[in-house]
Amino acid sequence: MALLEVEDLVVQFYTEDGTVRAVDGISYEIDRGETVALVGESGAGKSVTCLSLLRLLERPGEIVSGEIRFDGRDVLGLSDEELRDLRGNEIAMVFQDPSAALNPVYTVGEQIAEAIRAHEDVTDETARRRAIDLLERVEIPDAASRYSEYPHEFSGGMQQRVVIAMALSCEPDLLVCDEPTTALDVTIEAGILELLEDLAAEFDTAIQLVSHDLGVVAGLCDRVQVMYAGEIVERAPTEELYYDPKHPYTVGLMASIPRIGDDRDELPTIPGSMPDLVDVPTGCRFHPRCPYAEEACRLRAPSLVDVETGVPADEPAPNDHLAACHEYTDDLVDGLDYEVVVEDGGGLE
Ligand code: SF4
Repeated sequence: MALLEVEDLVVQFYTEDGTVRAVDGISYEIDRGETVALVGESGAGKSVTCLSLLRLLERPGEIVSGEIRFDGRDVLGLSDEELRDLRGNEIAMVFQDPSAALNPVYTVGEQIAEAIRAHEDVTDETARRRAIDLLERVEIPDAASRYSEYPHEFSGGMQQRVVIAMALSCEPDLLVCDEPTTALDVTIEAGILELLEDLAAEFDTAIQLVSHDLGVVAGLCDRVQVMYAGEIVERAPTEELYYDPKHPYTVGLMASIPRIGDDRDELPTIPGSMPDLVDVPTGCRFHPRCPYAEEACRLRAPSLVDVETGVPADEPAPNDHLAACHEYTDDLVDGLDYEVVVEDGGGLE
């Protein structure tokens, strides 16, 4: 049994303009100790998925249907008390902006100690010692004295380390990290990603990492899932996705990553933008932006299938590499037979 099982999850937002189908029937699993990325542009549904896992969505958002099971338990059926236990104890979350996650009027050490006391019956002194230990484990220098400092005395990168220490304070089985390095500069980002990798191994914690940047997830994740307009359009082990992307959207994302020794004057971009989720395109949602779109793509939505065999994702024993494009369904669209190639210089061919 996987640690996390998400099945046919549908999340909608009710707005004046209409119903936003933010997440539309996604299914996936995360095993114990596994690190899985959700990538895609803003508006793909990544963050809404994460908030749904912890039932943190607020109105006008609503989980309309589907199932979320954590360690075999039905998360959507938990009582408020059971949900409080789940949050922090078993699933913890690290958000994009560390300054918003920390309370400016308490010292960082008090905040970590408080998180420990909220979930465990320990003395103040034990909570304090464990908080200092956690600050050391996230590599805050001189942790014992910095315990008594306030968030504004820490840099952005150090604040995010404190937030990660808080998230790990109860040794959760799953850490959900929603764009944890987006607010940080690139050198600090590398340090945080390395820290997450080390801590995941040390605590045997599974990680769901959300990012709009395929480059960020490359070194950290075992598997990558690409989301587009509320759906998962490709899923593969990280290395395979990077070297052999199948879905034209993934190919476009890959081509837009700068590479060492890159001599391109401009990075290619995917034309157009994410569709309005109140009024999603018919058929394949990517068709208005896809260079390979055929008439059939406008008429029929492709399902997620094994790229080698065409076996649907919900049937037993598909390979690890799946894509939702008519190119890979067993009833191939007439005339749609392209080869997607990322050349050395990037770009769609
Ligand atoms: Fe492009 Fe058609 Fe594949 Fe969609 S189904 S990604 S429009 S080729």
